[in-house]
Amino acid sequence: AAGRELLSPSDVTRTVARIAHQIIEKTALDSGDADAPRVVLMGIPTRGTTLANRLADKIEEFSGVRPALGSLDITLYRDDLRSRPHRPLERTSVPDGGIENSLVVLVDDVLFSGRTVRAALDGLRDLGRPRAVQLAVLIDRGHRELPIRADYVGKNVPTSRAEDISVLMIEHDGRDGVYLHQE
Ligand code: 5GP
Ligand code: MG
Repeated sequence: AAGRELLSPSDVTRTVARIAHQIIEKTALDSGDADAPRVVLMGIPTRGTTLANRLADKIEEFSGVRPALGSLDITLYRDDLRSRPHRPLERTSVPDGGIENSLVVLVDDVLFSGRTVRAALDGLRDLGRPRAVQLAVLIDRGHRELPIRADYVGKNVPTSRAEDISVLMIEHDGRDGVYLHQE
């Protein structure tokens, strides 16, 4: 079944644009201030990386400044690695200049328990010491199991544990949209 529509294709476009504006405002990446940190968007594969790419394009379009872009595979840092079915490793890519002293914005499609983000923080630690880390997600579906929250949220969606959200993106699925499914 298609499920209940949470974000239409145009909602996805608008939401990505809004988060891009919020990142520009909160990080002041276009201030020209020598003290302003370099901003690095680190997407969590698969759709977080795609979202980070889109955000970088919009941030550049709106501010004239393109943030650095990378992706961070967190598979090896999960605390439930042994209990999860085997999944192929995704690519970690670190932008030129690394993340040392940068403002890293982690980007993911859905925030749920917070365990992926916790793992991403472990992964970052092996890449350097950022000045600060923020989090951007398209959907926050609740049910946190750790003291983690997002700095930028496309949409807050109260869900039951039995429900599931599908995030469709043109680059992977041929079209954009976010849907809520009952298990
Ligand atoms: P967490 O680690 O916070 O429990 O879950 C977040 C990670 O699992 C994200 O990388 C996200 O892609 C995936 N995830 C968790 N719940 C959902 C969901 O309902 N729908 C989708 N599409 N991904 C989810
Ligand atoms: Mg994911």
